[in-house]
Amino acid sequence: KAIGGNSCRLFQPEMEKAEEAAMRIELDLHKAVARRELVLYYQPQLDLRSGRIVGVEALLRWRRADGTLLAPGAFLPVAEETGLIVQITEWVLDEACRQLASWAEEGMSVRMAVNMSGVLFRRGDVRGTVLDVIERTGINPNDLELELTESVLIANTDSANRQLEDLRKLGAAVAVDDFGTGYASLTYLSRLVIDRIKIDKSFIDRIEDSEADQAIVRSMITLCRNLGIRVTAEGIERPEQARWLAQQRCDEGQGFYFGRPQPADRVAAMIHASMGAWRQESGDIDLHRTVFAEGSELAP
Ligand code: C2E
Ligand code: MG
Ligand code: MG
Ligand code: MG
Repeated sequence: KAIGGNSCRLFQPEMEKAEEAAMRIELDLHKAVARRELVLYYQPQLDLRSGRIVGVEALLRWRRADGTLLAPGAFLPVAEETGLIVQITEWVLDEACRQLASWAEEGMSVRMAVNMSGVLFRRGDVRGTVLDVIERTGINPNDLELELTESVLIANTDSANRQLEDLRKLGAAVAVDDFGTGYASLTYLSRLVIDRIKIDKSFIDRIEDSEADQAIVRSMITLCRNLGIRVTAEGIERPEQARWLAQQRCDEGQGFYFGRPQPADRVAAMIHASMGAWRQESGDIDLHRTVFAEGSELAP
């Protein structure tokens, strides 16, 4: 019927099921913001020299009425297709900056990283959205970092750069997420105003024993150091990875080894604990795993 006219199509149960699921998500997602079903989890980002938490990344979760907790991969694609992502991103920015402001009031100094959808970027009103939230929440804009993927940046280099410069003027920083996965030419690193790259987890996964991955990551770090761009490694799950990256003078690290994404109060306790943490003389990072190993993000 949906095809219209008198055309006829063979029954495709698989596809219909997927479409049905997507439609249900879309319908529910419309109400999710109003029903306060969206929540932010926060994952710590550590300075690999000091072992201290210097930032957190806000990661979206959807706690549905039936109690299930959905990861962004399960609903963000639908949000992007339907344009709901604009409203959702505004909510995320607002919520993350409110949290940042409340932590700042308690004397906790951390950077807040927020993922920005390419949809907002293409619409060209990122600056207005970010300025609004800065004014509304009273945060120090220098504590805000916006994460974008390579594909967003290279799709429209001129417009992208103008928007990045606008964000910079507001005081916010820009990070390239999932760095190395976008089949992008490296020249954009020197042409765009970028503060940080986040090396994708796929390069970090086998870093202990793959010489090829070691060479790639070492080159990324050197290249960025020469360009004045900071480097964060994503997806660190084991101490050997953290140690190797620290030896290469990678600036920061993020991953399950240091802490999973978790609710604000839990990550706040970790930040407090990390304020007294220092890297051990041996060159190992003192990760005081009593604090870091615990948080399972699916626990209530
Ligand atoms: P991302 O920005 O690259 O975030 C990192 C993802 O890797 C997160 O998945 C995080 O839970 C996961 N991760 C971190 N450390 C480890 C590790 O050591 N091992 C493994 N296996 N995974 C790790 P998550 O939360 O499911 O988010 C997936 C993606 O969804 C994010 O990738 C980001 O692109 C997107 N996303 C999340 N929140 C938002 C949001 O508020 N807005 C937008 N536009 N996108 C978001
Ligand atoms: Mg990210
Ligand atoms: Mg990433
Ligand atoms: Mg990712």
